[in-house]
Amino acid sequence: MTLDLARNLDASDPLRAFRERFSLPQGVVYLDGNSLGALPKDTPARLEQVVRGEWGEGLIRSWNDADWINLPQRVGAKIAPLIGAQADEVIACDSVSVNLFKLIGAALSMQPQRKVILSEPGNFPTDLYMIAGLEAQGLATRRLASRERIEAALDESVALLLLTHVHYKYGEPFDMVALTKAAHDVGALVLWDLSHSGGALPVDLNAANADFAVGCGYKYLNGGPGAPAYAYVARRHQEALSQPLTGWMGHAAPFAFTDDYTPAPGIDRLLAGTPGILGLAALEVGVDLIAEIGVDRLASKSRALSEFFRQAVADRLPDLELVSSPDPMARGSQLSFRHTQAYAICQALIARGIIGDFRDPDILRFGFAPAYVSFEDVFGAARALADVIVTGEWRRPEFQERAAVT
Ligand SMILES: *Cc1c(COP(=O)(O)O)cnc(C)c1O
Repeated sequence: MTLDLARNLDASDPLRAFRERFSLPQGVVYLDGNSLGALPKDTPARLEQVVRGEWGEGLIRSWNDADWINLPQRVGAKIAPLIGAQADEVIACDSVSVNLFKLIGAALSMQPQRKVILSEPGNFPTDLYMIAGLEAQGLATRRLASRERIEAALDESVALLLLTHVHYKYGEPFDMVALTKAAHDVGALVLWDLSHSGGALPVDLNAANADFAVGCGYKYLNGGPGAPAYAYVARRHQEALSQPLTGWMGHAAPFAFTDDYTPAPGIDRLLAGTPGILGLAALEVGVDLIAEIGVDRLASKSRALSEFFRQAVADRLPDLELVSSPDPMARGSQLSFRHTQAYAICQALIARGIIGDFRDPDILRFGFAPAYVSFEDVFGAARALADVIVTGEWRRPEFQERAAVT
């Protein structure tokens, strides 16, 4: 793995023109797009237009004139093909956490005699915490089973299997088709969290016969910090779906102002309160860009990038423990390594302009957002990582201090 090879790969990269469509600071190698996606260059102008024009000039008229009222559905319909769903099966709204609550609640109400929500220990915390919250309300029973034991833990008491498709820390994917089928075989429903796969890897919810899904807007979809998330409900469940956050925007006739709740038809009933238009407008720009590039092209470049990085690191640091799979087909768009000094190493890299991230207690995680990361970036990052470790640069006191957000 050499700089020349990296440059040759960049020269023949079919996605190389897309890097220019993102605004990245000079001198930064950004390997954290799996935590907060980079800023598309079109986003500031679009936000300016929404703020000054649609809000400033249009005022309340823009709910109709600028079609703000349909923005959650419009953005959802654009996300749908990225995740193997139909346009009317996806809506963009709220956060992943809130959408988890709605869909776990919906699943529980579909089979009231079943209370168990099955997940894996070490799943993304919010997924486990949302189950715990429903458990504290007396509505659910949380059951955790390690990856290899999930199928064995599925039985007729399970209402819902809730898993993150690609693990946030290790990048390991679940077999969506097989596990969805295994859950259905015992009469359980399945909710997939696509936060680390939607927009980065091919996902086919319809082919897997998935019941529900949620996913993140600010990672691979580049919607900006705290961007709205999305939720998917298979068409076959929509007519009877009852979700617990029965706010007015999910009502069949929100502007009739009646006292009784009647859910809107279809996916619209997943809305709770008034959608955040600025966040949705920014998310739409990111989604349009990802859709233009195409998930298949993104996935194949992501595999090539992570493989290049893995080999470049292995050349220099043969003892560094890789916790992601060495097989690019068996991992998401990231590579994670274990090192007792992961935090300080990560800080030393950030000081050199190489932004990856640290996951407690000892994981160094590098994400490869293929729309804007080059092979030369990845080569430089591998070289810097080796340098920081071999020279002991991470020992400097300023790299030891923990920030509030890691
Ligand atoms: C990032 C992420 C979330 C984010 O949840 P929010 O409520 O939108 O903050 C949820 N689940 C997984 C697996 C994630 O990686």
